Amino acid sequence: MLVVQKYGGTSMGDCERIQNVANRIAMRKKENHHLVVVVSAMSGVTDTLVGYTKYFTQLPNPREVDMVLSSGERITSALLAIALENMGFKAISLSGRKAGILTDSIHTKARIEDIDTTYLKSLLEQDYIVVVAGFQGVDKNGEVTTLGRGGSDLSAVAIAGALQADLCEIYTDVDGVYTTDPRIEKNAKKIHKISYDEMLELASMGAKVLLNRSVELAKKWNIPLVTRSSFTYDEGTMITHEENIMEQAVVSGVALDKNQVRVSMVGVSDRPGIAAEIFTAMANANINIDMIVQTIGRDGKTNLDFTLPQSEIEEAKIALKDFEKDVENIEVDCNIAKVSIVGVGMKSHSGVASCAFSALAKENINIMMISTSEIKVSMVIDNKYAELAVRSLHSAYNLDK
Ligand code: ADP
Ligand code: ASP
Ligand code: MG
Repeated sequence: MLVVQKYGGTSMGDCERIQNVANRIAMRKKENHHLVVVVSAMSGVTDTLVGYTKYFTQLPNPREVDMVLSSGERITSALLAIALENMGFKAISLSGRKAGILTDSIHTKARIEDIDTTYLKSLLEQDYIVVVAGFQGVDKNGEVTTLGRGGSDLSAVAIAGALQADLCEIYTDVDGVYTTDPRIEKNAKKIHKISYDEMLELASMGAKVLLNRSVELAKKWNIPLVTRSSFTYDEGTMITHEENIMEQAVVSGVALDKNQVRVSMVGVSDRPGIAAEIFTAMANANINIDMIVQTIGRDGKTNLDFTLPQSEIEEAKIALKDFEKDVENIEVDCNIAKVSIVGVGMKSHSGVASCAFSALAKENINIMMISTSEIKVSMVIDNKYAELAVRSLHSAYNLDK
């Protein structure tokens, strides 16, 4: 059996923890599996590295940023290989480049285009435990790229797909996917099985236990995906196809994203094509717009509000400079949070959204923006009520029961 495992930042947090990971890998190896292990940088390291690059300017050259950020995973991958060799195993660490991870050239949020598995496969045939530095690849010119924050999950799933692995296990600091972040709501319950689609929505809406793009890929390639804790031996959460799940909850989970900002464009010239121009400019700057709300135009003017990740606001401001003549005022609100409820059962039940609005109303929390999909309702609120909102939604749908 070929198993791809991924160990996150907390699991790789220091040398003692890396030894713990090595011990766990050793147990798995003795079951006679072929193993590829993808690792993150030690927890906090990527944040520190981001901080260094911003010491000089808010807009450092993204190519250089990737040179800096990719170093965190190089360190942990080599340390783990050293630990495993010391225990008598054949182990080798590979950078993203050596692992054959080819990406596009969009630095700091590159997409994987292909994986050349030739070298990986030859090492597995020689029975090496292959330790791959997560979160990184190279573009066609050999430039180092990174895959966006949380990108090691994607490295693991993409490698599992390319090698047609039997299983991809994501080891983290919680023992599975919960009905909401257990750090916010201590009564959150572990979900034993969840559908790819629900997990994708939860992850996209802020549940960082898995990166959304990794879930998307796992679904596309039918990769059995499990999240587990590297600190316990508890059974984790299986992410699988909807039809493999017997009972569908109306609402499966609540997600919180505190890393978004809201841009309000006030008094925008209300003419055909203006939205296309603004959002094309944002897309060209590789900015991920999430919610968009446009109010009804009056006297030739309209208001346009949208949200985007906090980390992209500087680039967004530059892209918006071209529209100053079309707009009376552009305001940026960093003190927002997005709370979302997710569940496939919503497709066949009514009154699900109104229950969420009532739960927030009961706490006197004002909703600034709403967006829905077939299996999700998201609301933008004031950041200071974020945790309260999560807890009230969690209990409004009886997820603590
Ligand atoms: P890693 O460093 O292992 O990749 P992350 O910090 O990226 O770990 O993700 C794990 C964290 O995700 C948990 O510590 C938890 O606080 C958070 N989290 C958010 N939502 C959920 C959820 N629904 N279920 C479990 N964990 C969640
Ligand atoms: N180290 C990177 C980050 O902190 C990638 C990852 O951990 O998945 O975002
Ligand atoms: Mg993560």
